[in-house]
Amino acid sequence: MPASENLPVVVARLAKFYGTPKPPSTTDPFELILFENVAYLVTDERREEAFNLLRKTAGTKPHQILAAANNILLKVVDLGGMQPEKRAARLREIALIAMNEFGGDLSEALKLPLPKAKKALQKFPSIGEPSAEKILLFTRSYPVLGLDSNALRVLLRLGFGEEKKNYSASYRSVQEAIKDQLGDDYEWLINAHLLLRHHGKELCKTTRPRCEKCPVRKSCAYYARVRTASGSDRIRRERGKSKATL
Ligand code: SF4
Repeated sequence: MPASENLPVVVARLAKFYGTPKPPSTTDPFELILFENVAYLVTDERREEAFNLLRKTAGTKPHQILAAANNILLKVVDLGGMQPEKRAARLREIALIAMNEFGGDLSEALKLPLPKAKKALQKFPSIGEPSAEKILLFTRSYPVLGLDSNALRVLLRLGFGEEKKNYSASYRSVQEAIKDQLGDDYEWLINAHLLLRHHGKELCKTTRPRCEKCPVRKSCAYYARVRTASGSDRIRRERGKSKATL
């Protein structure tokens, strides 16, 4: 079932419910790549803590990461979750790619035509198409709505696009469904990204979404399906009961 309300209406409802989201921790492309990689499977607060420690101790320029002592990087990534050695090495790898392929400065890469700019960013570890789009959005290079897995799940459940066999196909399907509703207002797009992600983490969780509290449930295809299904179950149960009593 396609979404019954358009994306701006959904985003406005989420903004009214959650308030204006906190802006991103950085808008620097290299820092955004470090931010993705500094932590793994931890809370947003912990990721932010690890990133701030990196800024304070080693620095967040490619040459500073390369010059940083190993124990400093390890202390940072240790805050950011499991496999610290692997992630410390990854921070150096990121700095090396930035130096070798971009002369230590990503600003020119952001000015490339969109598909090439995305490809350039995808040279870094952990940066797939969604993260590349997020970086292009947060740096205000292109008005694209990069979606993380939380935001993607929310939009699919609401009825934007369709769940496909794999993640990239589902991602493309959602992007196709919303492409005419995006406009080019960076402020709105960044807030939409943050609000959809937040909603996916708070209420529209992977398992057992808390639909009863959801501000957009009236326009949600998933909610309508679940409600109809539970209604039919109830009707079936009631029919069963009445047959048994006849
Ligand atoms: S109604 Fe439920 S499934 Fe739909 S968006 Fe809200 S929380 Fe997610």
